[in-house]
Amino acid sequence: MHDDRTLVEARLKRVLEERIRPAVYPESVPLAVSVWTAPGEPVPVAEGLAAPRSPIAVGDAWGAPWSTSWLTVAGTVPGSWAGRTVEALIDLGFDANMPGFQCEGLVYRPDGTPVKGLNPQNQWVRIAAPAAGGEPVLLHVEAAANPVILDYHPFLPTELGDRETAGDKPQYRLARMDLAVFDETVWQLVLDLEVLGELMAELPTDGARRWELLRAVERALDAIDLQDVNGTAEAARSFLVEVLAAPAAPSAHRIGAIGHAHIDSAWLWPLRETVRKVARTAANMTALLEDEPDFLYTMSQAQQFAWIKEHRPEVYARVKKAVADGRFVPAGGMWVESDTNMPSSEAMARQFVHGKRFFLAEFGIDNEEAWLPDTFGFTGGLPQIIRNAGSKWLLTQKISWSQINKFPHHTFLWEGIDGTRIFTHFPPVDTYNCSMKGSEIAHAARNFKDKGVARHSLAPTGWGDGGGGTTREMVGKAARLRDLEGSATVRWQRPAEFFAEAEAEYPKPPVWVGELYLELHRATLTSQARTKQGNRRSENLLREAELWCASAALRTGLAYPYEQLDRIWKTVLLHQFHDILPGSSIAWVHREAEATYAGLAAELEELIGAAQRALAGDPAGGRELVFNGAPHGRSAVPAGGAAVAVTGPGDCAVAAREGGGFVLDNGLLRIVVDGDGLVVSAVDAASGRETVAPGGRANLLQLHPDFPNMWDAWDVDEFYRNTVTDLVGADEVAVHTEGPAEVAVRVARSFGSSTVTQTLTLRAGSGRLDIDTEVDWHEAEKFLKLAFPLDVHTERYAAETQFGHQFRPTHTNTSWDAAKFEACNHRFVHLAEPGWGVALVTPSTYGHDVTRAVRPDDGGTTTTVRFSLLRAPRFPDPRTDQGRHRFRHALVPGAEIGDAVREGYAVGLPERRVTGSAEAVRPLVELDQDALVVSAVKLADDGSGDLVVRVYESGGGRARGRLATSFALAAAVPCDLLERPWEGTRGEVVADGDGVRLALRPFELVTLRLTPAG
Ligand SMILES: [Zn+2]
Repeated sequence: MHDDRTLVEARLKRVLEERIRPAVYPESVPLAVSVWTAPGEPVPVAEGLAAPRSPIAVGDAWGAPWSTSWLTVAGTVPGSWAGRTVEALIDLGFDANMPGFQCEGLVYRPDGTPVKGLNPQNQWVRIAAPAAGGEPVLLHVEAAANPVILDYHPFLPTELGDRETAGDKPQYRLARMDLAVFDETVWQLVLDLEVLGELMAELPTDGARRWELLRAVERALDAIDLQDVNGTAEAARSFLVEVLAAPAAPSAHRIGAIGHAHIDSAWLWPLRETVRKVARTAANMTALLEDEPDFLYTMSQAQQFAWIKEHRPEVYARVKKAVADGRFVPAGGMWVESDTNMPSSEAMARQFVHGKRFFLAEFGIDNEEAWLPDTFGFTGGLPQIIRNAGSKWLLTQKISWSQINKFPHHTFLWEGIDGTRIFTHFPPVDTYNCSMKGSEIAHAARNFKDKGVARHSLAPTGWGDGGGGTTREMVGKAARLRDLEGSATVRWQRPAEFFAEAEAEYPKPPVWVGELYLELHRATLTSQARTKQGNRRSENLLREAELWCASAALRTGLAYPYEQLDRIWKTVLLHQFHDILPGSSIAWVHREAEATYAGLAAELEELIGAAQRALAGDPAGGRELVFNGAPHGRSAVPAGGAAVAVTGPGDCAVAAREGGGFVLDNGLLRIVVDGDGLVVSAVDAASGRETVAPGGRANLLQLHPDFPNMWDAWDVDEFYRNTVTDLVGADEVAVHTEGPAEVAVRVARSFGSSTVTQTLTLRAGSGRLDIDTEVDWHEAEKFLKLAFPLDVHTERYAAETQFGHQFRPTHTNTSWDAAKFEACNHRFVHLAEPGWGVALVTPSTYGHDVTRAVRPDDGGTTTTVRFSLLRAPRFPDPRTDQGRHRFRHALVPGAEIGDAVREGYAVGLPERRVTGSAEAVRPLVELDQDALVVSAVKLADDGSGDLVVRVYESGGGRARGRLATSFALAAAVPCDLLERPWEGTRGEVVADGDGVRLALRPFELVTLRLTPAG
């Protein structure tokens, strides 16, 4: 037989596009439209409904960036349409090829009840089925003119990302405002032909099924009268029944589809717009659930549920009902889908605490899966946190975005730094916006790496970010793919059911140990430095606030600020969303985040101050007490307590260096700063060992050009390293402080349009050289690094993560090693040879890189650690990071891992001085083993008055110790993160009157609920 395949396929494409799809709505009449544009920010629904309208017509421009227009559409169903299905078609000026990221609408009835959202792929509103004819139609649309930030030519700098710079040029033109007859038979024919045509394109041309489909499609096309599609659609469909009924092969891949809209909690729009995006999509999805009995939908992020509850109670009532029916499924158990690289141990824990608690309180649901489809990499600390939250599964899709290496599994056990294993699934469909296209379904089946031992995968299905979620067309396609020869099978499935089934079929999945590093978006560890520092500052202040407020509550009866801390935590958690903390949002989001963090800092300082004053007693007592919020004692002040300040004699000295520069010495460290303000020597007296590599100069600022191929705020591409400028020229190198307690050298530099001032400080009794860097940054598309070439020979280094540290190679042996050219640390990186090590600690910088070189003259190895201070990408915020910044870094020569942990905490948690009458404030709890570190001291969230203490093993070894309480202890119960009794066995936790004996595994964390006696 002659091969006419391409001819028939081209025919299908044209007839579908030009004749069949247009025939879904064979008749239409225009609606009358009027408009009112709110003068500023969005207004309450009642106000928008009541505002006076003026006329507007299809073709008219509307919508200054970020404005809201209230449209009223009115008309009458023609009498001749009696008995037919009638829909309103409202096209606000959408680009249907870009679902999401544009204008959006929410439709209301005249009484203010929401109907559904309007989105590029979802422009219909059902009016009547069947229509009586003659009924009046009156609807209102709250239309948000969100501008397109990520356009067809992506990543171009734009001023549209902030209301303050966006101007007032209308962004859209009303494209269609009609009442129309909906021909369901033609609509079904479209889906039949799409499903079969798309499946056909994926099948081998030498297989019979492809040709059977081709011939069936051809017969259906033959049956269509192109001048009367509506009259012949039924007949055309009859030629497709048989091929649609042929069942899938027994070995077919099985896709559990779940309706979903990945809604970024802020990104190319401000937080306030997400509140509305979520409401529109939830309105859409609850409506679709009513129309489609098989369909299931999942929504993550407790914060988004909380927004609907607060701002759109009518939509929330529908959500609650659908949740109760088991069809609208809360997923993930986190407050938001946060970044996981940068949040501190406690913050990562609280994401689960607040997320799970919300779902439990609102719906009685205890989620067991972590749902993070889009997060930019996953730390080795996360598995233990998931397990301690009472969860056991993880879903993410993001690792498929890695630039270099293909991850070897789609379903596997992921083992964290402490040995906890979490059953993890990467949907092989490689998207969290599946649209049920044949190419996606076939890709999932082909791509699945666990074939032969597993058969199930999950496909989150629907348009996110203002695309409106799952469409009725996707549901229609899924129904046809349920059991179809040549295709993977598809059925709607809740995430927990998927995981249970996948786990049951795969008893011995492969294991991946350590972090799930995303080989992309590496610059999200650096972009928007002020947002990152706001996060870190808030985390530190929350630690202190909980500690001192709990101490004051137990010691003095001061009321514990439960509600205030709860609200502040939730605000901090929200800002850890995976486009806020990573710095990949528009200017508006980061401008607001900075203001929010400043407000939180003021509130927390007030809480800390009030608690410490209560503990210190009457200021007339005149004693200066030093409060130590760090987990280790320092300057004779115990951890978590206060003592009267004692000032030692101090023996710091600074001397001029021959040839320029200075020598700083405090008896513990001897630091040589050269005439350029660079550190050419750092020797710790204990070992006598030099830290700086021969010929190397530490504290070296380096400037690189930084223009990635795409995703400017997100990405730094490896080639940035090819060009570098060492900023060695100094405007000034001078002694800044000269006293027995402290010596400091100040260095000033200028480059490009920017200036830097650095203060290098050595304090009495400290084994740390502190480097405070103040930058006035006015560069574009540059990357600023701070380099420390160290004389250390090691194949790996440690970088702190949640509840421990993870190791990374210093070499680039494999493509996996080479791809980690920029990585995350929390408070320290640590490098060691047996018996000697060095740490670099920081309270302000997450991004860093570590490289190695062998010196030709002495054969030694130079391992260079560089912190990533600032970038200046121009998309999506054209002025990212411009202006003043402060950073602190410190060099700790001769540091063991325990020193790195201690100094990492100390550098971010300065001592506080308060005048009072008390002689001292005894800590509530004290540990007698340095490797055991207190991560949180707080009152139990249930208001019982119990004390909750979280402890972890910080060194990567085993640790035995005793946690002594300074109050009589009635009970000590190990708990999960939600402060519920721990189920199952755990390391030794034995209460003994006024303390608890602990024996913890490497990096093990334990949460203790301590009930005071009496
Ligand atoms: Zn996202």
